[in-house]
Amino acid sequence: MKVKNKHVHKYEKTKIGDNYEVYKCALPGCTHYIAATLIIGRLSLCWGGCQNAVLMDNSLSKMKRPICDDCKELRRKQRELLRSIPEETTNEML
Ligand SMILES: [Zn+2]
Ligand SMILES: [Zn+2]
Repeated sequence: MKVKNKHVHKYEKTKIGDNYEVYKCALPGCTHYIAATLIIGRLSLCWGGCQNAVLMDNSLSKMKRPICDDCKELRRKQRELLRSIPEETTNEML
């Protein structure tokens, strides 16, 4: 799979060492990453399954995998349906 140089990064939050947080691009072939504190104002691809890009803001920067408002709403509804299933199980399904 060939990845173009110019794409919207699909940021995923990860930790380097004990407490240095970075967002790294999860797309194959891309090694880009950025300090978590610098993520605000950047575009990331949505992790919710759509192909939208989301603009990272304060609340999105708290998420490990940013998703757009549409997907957030969808997940909220799904969570309501799955309320009886323990949190860990539902996470696996996302
Ligand atoms: Zn990338
Ligand atoms: Zn989305």
